[in-house]
Amino acid sequence: MCGIFGAYSASGAPVLEDVYLGLFALQHRGQLSAGVAWTQDGSVHIKKGPGLVHDALQQDELEKIKAHAAIGHVRYATAGGTRPENSQPLGANYAQGPVAIAHNGNLTNAVAISSYLANRGAIFQTTCDTETIIQLMAHQPNTVQLEAFENALSRISGAYSLILLLEDCLIAARDPWGFRPLVLGKKEETYYIASESCAFDIIGAELLRDVEPGEILIIDRRGVISRRFGKQQPRLRHCAFEYVYFARPDSVIDGRSVYRARKELGACLARGMECPKDCVVSGMPDSGTLAALGLAEEAEVPFEAGVVRNRYVGRTFIQPTQRVREAGVRIKLNPQPGIFNGKEAVIVDDSIVRGTTAGRTVSTIRSAGAKKVHMCIASPPVRYPCYYGIDTPSSDELIAAQTDIESLCGDIGADSLRYISCSELCSAIGLPHDQLCTACFDGDYLDDEENGCSLEV
Ligand code: SF4
Repeated sequence: MCGIFGAYSASGAPVLEDVYLGLFALQHRGQLSAGVAWTQDGSVHIKKGPGLVHDALQQDELEKIKAHAAIGHVRYATAGGTRPENSQPLGANYAQGPVAIAHNGNLTNAVAISSYLANRGAIFQTTCDTETIIQLMAHQPNTVQLEAFENALSRISGAYSLILLLEDCLIAARDPWGFRPLVLGKKEETYYIASESCAFDIIGAELLRDVEPGEILIIDRRGVISRRFGKQQPRLRHCAFEYVYFARPDSVIDGRSVYRARKELGACLARGMECPKDCVVSGMPDSGTLAALGLAEEAEVPFEAGVVRNRYVGRTFIQPTQRVREAGVRIKLNPQPGIFNGKEAVIVDDSIVRGTTAGRTVSTIRSAGAKKVHMCIASPPVRYPCYYGIDTPSSDELIAAQTDIESLCGDIGADSLRYISCSELCSAIGLPHDQLCTACFDGDYLDDEENGCSLEV
Protein backbone atom coordinates (compact mmCIF):
# COMPACT_ATOMS: atom_id res chain seq x y z
CA MET A 1 0.00 0.00 0.00
CA CYS A 2 1.38 3.41 -1.00
CA GLY A 3 -0.08 6.86 -1.52
CA ILE A 4 0.16 8.80 -4.78
CA PHE A 5 -0.72 12.37 -5.67
CA GLY A 6 -0.45 14.45 -8.84
CA ALA A 7 -1.36 17.97 -9.91
CA TYR A 8 -1.55 19.82 -13.25
CA SER A 9 -2.31 23.52 -13.48
CA ALA A 10 -3.58 24.69 -16.86
CA SER A 11 -2.98 28.32 -15.83
CA GLY A 12 0.69 27.62 -15.09
CA ALA A 13 0.36 28.09 -11.31
CA PRO A 14 3.05 26.28 -9.27
CA VAL A 15 1.77 23.02 -7.78
CA LEU A 16 4.58 21.46 -5.74
CA GLU A 17 3.26 22.86 -2.48
CA ASP A 18 -0.12 21.24 -3.20
CA VAL A 19 1.62 17.92 -3.88
CA TYR A 20 3.50 18.24 -0.59
CA LEU A 21 0.24 18.86 1.30
CA GLY A 22 -1.53 16.05 -0.56
CA LEU A 23 1.21 13.63 0.49
CA PHE A 24 0.74 14.74 4.09
CA ALA A 25 -2.91 13.70 3.90
CA LEU A 26 -1.84 10.32 2.48
CA GLN A 27 0.88 9.68 5.06
CA HIS A 28 -1.12 6.78 6.56
CA ARG A 29 -0.56 4.88 3.27
CA GLY A 30 3.23 4.79 3.63
CA GLN A 31 5.91 5.98 6.03
CA LEU A 32 9.06 4.45 4.55
CA SER A 33 9.90 7.26 2.13
CA ALA A 34 8.39 10.24 0.37
CA GLY A 35 9.22 11.97 -2.89
CA VAL A 36 8.10 14.37 -5.60
CA ALA A 37 8.93 14.74 -9.30
CA TRP A 38 8.45 17.52 -11.83
CA THR A 39 9.70 18.32 -15.31
CA GLN A 40 11.67 21.39 -16.33
CA ASP A 41 13.62 22.30 -19.49
CA GLY A 42 12.92 18.89 -21.01
CA SER A 43 14.22 16.87 -18.04
CA VAL A 44 12.67 15.10 -15.09
CA HIS A 45 13.68 16.30 -11.60
CA ILE A 46 13.14 14.25 -8.45
CA LYS A 47 13.50 14.93 -4.74
CA LYS A 48 12.97 12.06 -2.34
CA GLY A 49 14.19 10.71 0.94
CA PRO A 50 13.53 8.25 3.73
CA GLY A 51 10.90 8.63 6.43
CA LEU A 52 7.82 10.78 6.79
CA VAL A 53 6.90 13.55 4.38
CA HIS A 54 8.24 16.35 6.60
CA ASP A 55 11.57 14.52 7.06
CA ALA A 56 12.00 13.52 3.43
CA LEU A 57 11.03 16.81 1.76
CA GLN A 58 11.74 20.47 2.53
CA GLN A 59 8.55 22.42 2.03
CA ASP A 60 10.38 25.79 1.74
CA GLU A 61 12.56 24.40 -1.08
CA LEU A 62 9.59 22.98 -2.97
CA GLU A 63 7.72 26.25 -2.67
CA LYS A 64 10.43 27.99 -4.73
CA ILE A 65 10.13 25.57 -7.66
CA LYS A 66 7.70 26.94 -10.22
CA ALA A 67 6.55 23.67 -11.81
CA HIS A 68 2.93 23.66 -13.02
CA ALA A 69 2.76 19.83 -13.08
CA ALA A 70 4.17 17.41 -10.52
CA ILE A 71 3.62 14.03 -8.88
CA GLY A 72 4.38 12.61 -5.44
CA HIS A 73 4.54 9.32 -3.60
CA VAL A 74 4.64 7.98 -0.03
CA ARG A 75 6.01 4.46 0.18
CA TYR A 76 5.13 1.38 2.12
CA ALA A 77 7.47 -1.39 1.06
CA THR A 78 6.00 -4.43 -0.66
CA ALA A 79 7.60 -5.46 -3.96
CA GLY A 80 11.33 -4.83 -4.01
CA GLY A 81 11.93 -4.44 -0.29
CA THR A 82 13.15 -1.40 1.61
CA ARG A 83 16.19 -0.35 -0.50
CA PRO A 84 16.48 3.45 -0.77
CA GLU A 85 16.67 3.36 -4.58
CA ASN A 86 13.16 1.85 -4.63
CA SER A 87 11.60 4.98 -3.19
CA GLN A 88 9.37 6.78 -5.66
CA PRO A 89 8.66 8.62 -7.90
CA LEU A 90 10.96 6.86 -10.37
CA GLY A 91 12.07 8.87 -13.36
CA ALA A 92 14.05 8.71 -16.59
CA ASN A 93 14.96 10.83 -19.60
CA TYR A 94 14.82 8.51 -22.61
CA ALA A 95 14.56 8.81 -26.39
CA GLN A 96 11.00 10.19 -26.34
CA GLY A 97 11.51 12.62 -23.45
CA PRO A 98 11.23 12.81 -19.68
CA VAL A 99 8.98 10.50 -17.69
CA ALA A 100 8.30 10.08 -13.96
CA ILE A 101 5.98 7.55 -12.36
CA ALA A 102 4.28 6.97 -8.98
CA HIS A 103 2.61 3.60 -8.33
CA ASN A 104 0.30 2.12 -5.72
CA GLY A 105 -0.18 -1.65 -5.96
CA ASN A 106 1.86 -4.71 -6.92
CA LEU A 107 2.43 -6.07 -10.40
CA THR A 108 1.93 -9.83 -10.33
CA ASN A 109 3.99 -10.49 -13.49
CA ALA A 110 6.86 -8.09 -12.78
CA VAL A 111 9.46 -10.87 -12.43
CA ALA A 112 8.58 -12.31 -15.84
CA ILE A 113 8.67 -8.87 -17.48
CA SER A 114 11.97 -7.94 -15.80
CA SER A 115 13.71 -11.09 -16.97
CA TYR A 116 12.23 -10.67 -20.48
CA LEU A 117 13.62 -7.12 -20.62
CA ALA A 118 16.93 -7.98 -18.94
CA ASN A 119 17.49 -10.65 -21.61
CA ARG A 120 17.08 -7.89 -24.20
CA GLY A 121 19.61 -5.54 -22.63
CA ALA A 122 17.63 -3.62 -20.01
CA ILE A 123 19.71 -2.51 -17.02
CA PHE A 124 17.47 -2.11 -13.98
CA GLN A 125 18.31 0.61 -11.46
CA THR A 126 15.98 -0.71 -8.76
CA THR A 127 14.34 -3.93 -7.60
CA CYS A 128 10.95 -2.26 -7.67
CA ASP A 129 8.18 -3.68 -9.90
CA THR A 130 7.24 -0.15 -11.01
CA GLU A 131 10.48 0.21 -12.98
CA THR A 132 9.25 -2.41 -15.46
CA ILE A 133 6.72 0.16 -16.73
CA ILE A 134 9.41 2.74 -17.50
CA GLN A 135 11.64 0.06 -19.04
CA LEU A 136 8.75 -1.16 -21.21
CA MET A 137 8.28 2.42 -22.44
CA ALA A 138 12.01 2.94 -23.06
CA HIS A 139 12.10 -0.26 -25.10
CA GLN A 140 9.78 1.44 -27.58
CA PRO A 141 12.12 4.33 -28.55
CA ASN A 142 10.21 5.17 -31.74
CA THR A 143 6.74 5.19 -30.19
CA VAL A 144 5.21 8.39 -28.76
CA GLN A 145 5.06 8.31 -24.97
CA LEU A 146 1.31 7.95 -24.48
CA GLU A 147 1.12 5.07 -26.92
CA ALA A 148 4.22 3.45 -25.37
CA PHE A 149 2.56 3.75 -21.94
CA GLU A 150 -0.66 2.14 -23.21
CA ASN A 151 1.39 -0.66 -24.75
CA ALA A 152 3.16 -1.12 -21.40
CA LEU A 153 -0.20 -1.35 -19.61
CA SER A 154 -1.29 -4.15 -21.94
CA ARG A 155 1.69 -6.18 -20.69
CA ILE A 156 1.41 -5.74 -16.94
CA SER A 157 -0.96 -7.50 -14.58
CA GLY A 158 -2.04 -7.19 -10.97
CA ALA A 159 -2.76 -4.05 -8.99
CA TYR A 160 -1.76 -0.64 -10.27
CA SER A 161 -3.06 2.82 -9.67
CA LEU A 162 -0.54 5.00 -11.49
CA ILE A 163 0.31 8.63 -12.06
CA LEU A 164 2.68 9.41 -14.89
CA LEU A 165 4.31 12.77 -15.55
CA LEU A 166 5.51 13.67 -19.05
CA GLU A 167 6.99 16.94 -20.33
CA ASP A 168 3.68 18.86 -20.22
CA CYS A 169 1.08 16.28 -19.35
CA LEU A 170 -0.18 14.32 -16.35
CA ILE A 171 -1.59 10.83 -16.89
CA ALA A 172 -3.56 8.68 -14.43
CA ALA A 173 -4.35 5.00 -14.96
CA ARG A 174 -6.13 2.39 -12.84
CA ASP A 175 -5.91 -1.34 -13.51
CA PRO A 176 -8.95 -3.02 -15.11
CA TRP A 177 -9.83 -4.71 -11.81
CA GLY A 178 -9.80 -1.50 -9.72
CA PHE A 179 -7.80 -3.00 -6.85
CA ARG A 180 -6.46 0.24 -5.40
CA PRO A 181 -8.41 3.50 -5.21
CA LEU A 182 -7.69 6.54 -7.42
CA VAL A 183 -9.68 9.77 -7.61
CA LEU A 184 -9.86 12.92 -9.73
CA GLY A 185 -10.32 16.37 -8.18
CA LYS A 186 -10.26 20.01 -9.24
CA LYS A 187 -9.70 23.46 -7.81
CA GLU A 188 -9.95 26.44 -10.18
CA GLU A 189 -7.70 25.66 -13.17
CA THR A 190 -5.81 22.81 -11.48
CA TYR A 191 -6.68 19.12 -11.73
CA TYR A 192 -5.53 16.67 -9.10
CA ILE A 193 -5.19 12.87 -8.92
CA ALA A 194 -4.90 11.15 -5.53
CA SER A 195 -5.08 7.74 -3.89
CA GLU A 196 -7.85 8.97 -1.60
CA SER A 197 -10.31 11.84 -1.56
CA CYS A 198 -9.10 13.00 1.89
CA ALA A 199 -6.04 14.45 0.08
CA PHE A 200 -8.30 16.92 -1.76
CA ASP A 201 -9.79 18.31 1.46
CA ILE A 202 -6.40 19.56 2.69
CA ILE A 203 -5.92 21.74 -0.41
CA GLY A 204 -9.57 22.79 -0.79
CA ALA A 205 -10.09 20.84 -4.02
CA GLU A 206 -13.39 19.27 -5.02
CA LEU A 207 -13.72 15.51 -5.55
CA LEU A 208 -14.98 15.08 -9.13
CA ARG A 209 -15.05 11.28 -9.41
CA ASP A 210 -13.15 8.00 -9.16
CA VAL A 211 -10.81 7.07 -11.97
CA GLU A 212 -12.66 4.06 -13.41
CA PRO A 213 -11.04 0.62 -13.52
CA GLY A 214 -9.42 0.29 -16.95
CA GLU A 215 -9.43 4.05 -17.56
CA ILE A 216 -6.60 6.40 -18.53
CA LEU A 217 -7.00 10.13 -17.89
CA ILE A 218 -4.79 12.47 -19.89
CA ILE A 219 -4.58 15.90 -18.29
CA ASP A 220 -2.99 18.82 -20.12
CA ARG A 221 -3.79 22.40 -21.14
CA ARG A 222 -6.90 21.21 -23.02
CA GLY A 223 -8.43 19.70 -19.88
CA VAL A 224 -9.09 16.01 -19.15
CA ILE A 225 -9.40 13.33 -21.81
CA SER A 226 -10.60 9.84 -20.85
CA ARG A 227 -9.60 6.65 -22.68
CA ARG A 228 -10.27 2.98 -21.96
CA PHE A 229 -7.64 0.28 -22.02
CA GLY A 230 -7.31 -3.39 -21.25
CA LYS A 231 -9.92 -6.08 -21.14
CA GLN A 232 -13.47 -5.12 -21.98
CA GLN A 233 -15.34 -6.40 -18.94
CA PRO A 234 -13.04 -7.88 -16.33
CA ARG A 235 -14.38 -8.83 -12.92
CA LEU A 236 -13.98 -5.87 -10.59
CA ARG A 237 -11.79 -6.47 -7.56
CA HIS A 238 -11.86 -3.40 -5.35
CA CYS A 239 -9.77 -4.22 -2.26
CA ALA A 240 -12.15 -4.93 0.64
CA PHE A 241 -9.36 -4.25 3.13
CA GLU A 242 -9.20 -0.58 2.09
CA TYR A 243 -12.59 -0.18 3.82
CA VAL A 244 -11.62 -2.28 6.84
CA TYR A 245 -8.21 -0.82 7.61
CA PHE A 246 -6.07 0.98 5.04
CA ALA A 247 -8.03 4.02 3.93
CA ARG A 248 -8.73 7.06 6.05
CA PRO A 249 -12.32 7.12 7.33
CA ASP A 250 -12.89 10.58 5.84
CA SER A 251 -12.28 9.20 2.33
CA VAL A 252 -14.90 8.15 -0.19
CA ILE A 253 -13.81 5.19 -2.32
CA ASP A 254 -15.71 4.10 -5.42
CA GLY A 255 -18.67 6.12 -4.20
CA ARG A 256 -18.71 4.56 -0.72
CA SER A 257 -17.88 6.33 2.51
CA VAL A 258 -15.17 4.50 4.45
CA TYR A 259 -16.65 5.93 7.67
CA ARG A 260 -20.08 4.43 6.98
CA ALA A 261 -18.60 1.09 5.91
CA ARG A 262 -16.60 0.79 9.16
CA LYS A 263 -19.63 1.57 11.32
CA GLU A 264 -21.69 -0.95 9.37
CA LEU A 265 -18.99 -3.61 9.90
CA GLY A 266 -19.50 -3.08 13.64
CA ALA A 267 -23.28 -3.30 13.25
CA CYS A 268 -22.80 -6.65 11.45
CA LEU A 269 -20.80 -7.91 14.43
CA ALA A 270 -23.60 -6.86 16.79
CA ARG A 271 -26.28 -8.70 14.80
CA GLY A 272 -24.60 -12.04 15.39
CA MET A 273 -24.02 -11.74 19.12
CA GLU A 274 -25.73 -11.11 22.39
CA CYS A 275 -23.94 -8.40 24.37
CA PRO A 276 -23.85 -8.97 28.14
CA LYS A 277 -25.80 -6.36 30.18
CA ASP A 278 -22.75 -5.09 32.06
CA CYS A 279 -20.52 -4.85 29.02
CA VAL A 280 -18.55 -1.95 27.70
CA VAL A 281 -17.58 -1.71 24.02
CA SER A 282 -14.24 -0.25 22.93
CA GLY A 283 -12.32 -0.23 19.67
CA MET A 284 -8.61 -0.66 19.12
CA PRO A 285 -7.57 2.74 17.76
CA ASP A 286 -7.74 3.85 15.09
CA SER A 287 -9.26 1.39 12.66
CA GLY A 288 -11.30 -0.56 15.26
CA THR A 289 -12.92 2.55 16.76
CA LEU A 290 -15.66 3.18 14.21
CA ALA A 291 -16.62 -0.50 14.04
CA ALA A 292 -16.87 -0.47 17.86
CA LEU A 293 -19.15 2.56 17.67
CA GLY A 294 -21.32 0.80 15.08
CA LEU A 295 -21.48 -2.32 17.25
CA ALA A 296 -22.45 -0.34 20.36
CA GLU A 297 -25.15 1.63 18.51
CA GLU A 298 -26.67 -1.49 16.96
CA ALA A 299 -26.60 -3.48 20.23
CA GLU A 300 -27.65 -0.44 22.31
CA VAL A 301 -24.83 -0.92 24.78
CA PRO A 302 -22.33 1.69 26.07
CA PHE A 303 -19.33 2.68 23.98
CA GLU A 304 -16.20 4.00 25.66
CA ALA A 305 -12.93 5.23 24.17
CA GLY A 306 -11.37 2.68 26.51
CA VAL A 307 -8.03 2.29 24.78
CA VAL A 308 -5.72 5.25 24.24
CA ARG A 309 -3.19 5.30 21.44
CA ASN A 310 0.24 6.88 21.70
CA ARG A 311 0.35 8.72 18.36
CA TYR A 312 4.11 9.15 18.43
CA VAL A 313 4.94 5.47 18.07
CA GLY A 314 5.40 4.87 14.36
CA ARG A 315 5.22 1.67 12.40
CA THR A 316 9.00 1.53 12.35
CA PHE A 317 9.19 1.38 16.12
CA ILE A 318 12.16 -0.75 17.11
CA GLN A 319 11.98 -2.95 20.20
CA PRO A 320 15.61 -3.26 21.22
CA THR A 321 15.47 -4.91 24.64
CA GLN A 322 13.45 -7.68 26.24
CA ARG A 323 11.92 -5.20 28.71
CA VAL A 324 10.78 -2.88 25.91
CA ARG A 325 9.49 -5.88 23.94
CA GLU A 326 7.47 -7.01 26.93
CA ALA A 327 5.96 -3.56 27.34
CA GLY A 328 4.76 -4.32 23.79
CA VAL A 329 1.21 -3.26 23.14
CA ARG A 330 1.14 -0.96 26.18
CA ILE A 331 3.71 1.37 24.66
CA LYS A 332 1.39 1.92 21.73
CA LEU A 333 -2.04 1.30 23.28
CA ASN A 334 -3.01 1.78 26.91
CA PRO A 335 -6.39 1.12 28.60
CA GLN A 336 -8.19 4.01 30.30
CA PRO A 337 -8.07 3.48 34.06
CA GLY A 338 -11.40 2.44 35.56
CA ILE A 339 -13.32 1.88 32.32
CA PHE A 340 -13.14 -1.92 32.24
CA ASN A 341 -13.12 -2.59 35.98
CA GLY A 342 -15.61 -5.40 36.81
CA LYS A 343 -17.12 -5.23 33.30
CA GLU A 344 -17.29 -7.60 30.37
CA ALA A 345 -15.12 -5.90 27.74
CA VAL A 346 -16.17 -6.16 24.09
CA ILE A 347 -13.03 -5.17 22.17
CA VAL A 348 -13.28 -4.51 18.44
CA ASP A 349 -10.26 -4.70 16.15
CA ASP A 350 -9.97 -4.65 12.37
CA SER A 351 -8.18 -7.99 11.92
CA ILE A 352 -5.92 -10.62 13.45
CA VAL A 353 -2.75 -11.33 11.47
CA ARG A 354 -0.11 -13.20 13.48
CA GLY A 355 -2.10 -13.19 16.72
CA THR A 356 0.60 -11.63 18.90
CA THR A 357 -1.06 -8.21 19.17
CA ALA A 358 -4.48 -9.77 19.85
CA GLY A 359 -3.02 -11.90 22.65
CA ARG A 360 -1.33 -8.91 24.25
CA THR A 361 -4.50 -6.84 23.88
CA VAL A 362 -6.59 -9.42 25.72
CA SER A 363 -4.14 -9.68 28.61
CA THR A 364 -3.82 -5.87 28.81
CA ILE A 365 -7.62 -5.38 28.99
CA ARG A 366 -7.91 -8.18 31.53
CA SER A 367 -5.21 -6.62 33.68
CA ALA A 368 -7.20 -3.35 33.50
CA GLY A 369 -9.92 -5.10 35.53
CA ALA A 370 -12.22 -6.66 32.90
CA LYS A 371 -13.88 -9.81 34.20
CA LYS A 372 -14.28 -11.15 30.65
CA VAL A 373 -12.79 -10.11 27.30
CA HIS A 374 -14.77 -10.72 24.11
CA MET A 375 -12.77 -10.04 20.92
CA CYS A 376 -14.78 -8.95 17.88
CA ILE A 377 -13.03 -8.70 14.52
CA ALA A 378 -14.51 -6.42 11.86
CA SER A 379 -13.39 -8.65 8.97
CA PRO A 380 -13.31 -12.38 8.14
CA PRO A 381 -10.26 -14.43 9.26
CA VAL A 382 -7.13 -13.48 7.24
CA ARG A 383 -5.94 -16.85 5.91
CA TYR A 384 -4.11 -16.00 2.67
CA PRO A 385 -1.34 -13.56 1.68
CA CYS A 386 -2.02 -10.51 -0.47
CA TYR A 387 -0.24 -10.18 -3.83
CA TYR A 388 -1.80 -6.84 -4.71
CA GLY A 389 0.12 -4.29 -2.68
CA ILE A 390 -0.10 -5.28 0.96
CA ASP A 391 2.80 -6.79 2.86
CA THR A 392 0.97 -9.65 4.60
CA PRO A 393 2.97 -12.65 5.81
CA SER A 394 2.73 -16.07 4.17
CA SER A 395 -0.06 -18.44 5.24
CA ASP A 396 2.42 -20.19 7.57
CA GLU A 397 2.54 -17.05 9.71
CA LEU A 398 -1.16 -16.15 9.49
CA ILE A 399 -2.63 -17.54 12.66
CA ALA A 400 -6.15 -17.98 11.26
CA ALA A 401 -4.70 -20.20 8.52
CA GLN A 402 -3.13 -22.49 11.12
CA THR A 403 -6.02 -23.08 13.47
CA ASP A 404 -9.82 -22.91 13.83
CA ILE A 405 -11.59 -19.98 15.48
CA GLU A 406 -12.28 -21.82 18.72
CA SER A 407 -8.61 -22.73 19.19
CA LEU A 408 -7.54 -19.24 18.15
CA CYS A 409 -9.82 -17.79 20.84
CA GLY A 410 -8.00 -19.96 23.37
CA ASP A 411 -4.59 -19.04 21.92
CA ILE A 412 -5.17 -15.31 22.41
CA GLY A 413 -6.75 -15.91 25.83
CA ALA A 414 -10.16 -14.36 25.03
CA ASP A 415 -13.49 -15.52 26.49
CA SER A 416 -15.04 -15.38 23.06
CA LEU A 417 -13.94 -14.50 19.54
CA ARG A 418 -16.25 -13.40 16.75
CA TYR A 419 -15.50 -12.57 13.13
CA ILE A 420 -17.81 -11.41 10.37
CA SER A 421 -18.36 -13.48 7.22
CA CYS A 422 -17.32 -12.52 3.70
CA SER A 423 -20.93 -11.83 2.74
CA GLU A 424 -21.37 -9.56 5.80
CA LEU A 425 -18.17 -7.76 4.80
CA CYS A 426 -19.48 -7.14 1.27
CA SER A 427 -22.89 -5.98 2.44
CA ALA A 428 -21.31 -3.59 4.99
CA ILE A 429 -19.19 -2.07 2.20
CA GLY A 430 -22.24 -1.94 -0.05
CA LEU A 431 -20.78 -3.76 -3.06
CA PRO A 432 -21.61 -7.23 -4.40
CA HIS A 433 -19.01 -9.92 -3.72
CA ASP A 434 -18.14 -10.13 -7.42
CA GLN A 435 -16.97 -6.49 -7.35
CA LEU A 436 -14.63 -6.90 -4.40
CA CYS A 437 -11.28 -8.59 -3.85
CA THR A 438 -11.55 -10.80 -0.78
CA ALA A 439 -8.55 -13.00 -1.63
CA CYS A 440 -6.82 -12.64 1.74
CA PHE A 441 -9.98 -14.06 3.33
CA ASP A 442 -11.07 -16.70 0.82
CA GLY A 443 -8.06 -17.27 -1.49
CA ASP A 444 -9.98 -16.12 -4.60
CA TYR A 445 -7.03 -14.66 -6.53
CA LEU A 446 -6.89 -13.24 -10.04
CA ASP A 447 -6.52 -16.36 -12.20
CA ASP A 448 -4.26 -16.92 -15.21
CA GLU A 449 -7.10 -16.37 -17.66
CA GLU A 450 -7.89 -12.93 -16.23
CA ASN A 451 -4.17 -12.26 -15.96
CA GLY A 452 -3.15 -13.18 -19.50
CA CYS A 453 -0.75 -10.55 -20.85
CA SER A 454 1.58 -10.79 -23.81
CA LEU A 455 5.17 -9.93 -22.99
CA GLU A 456 6.18 -9.14 -26.58
CA VAL A 457 7.26 -5.54 -26.95
S1 SF4 B 1 -5.89 -9.82 -1.02
FE1 SF4 B 1 -6.87 -8.69 0.69
S2 SF4 B 1 -5.57 -6.90 1.04
FE2 SF4 B 1 -5.00 -7.75 -0.94
S3 SF4 B 1 -6.20 -6.62 -2.47
FE3 SF4 B 1 -7.38 -8.43 -1.94
S4 SF4 B 1 -8.71 -7.81 -0.23
FE4 SF4 B 1 -7.11 -6.27 -0.45
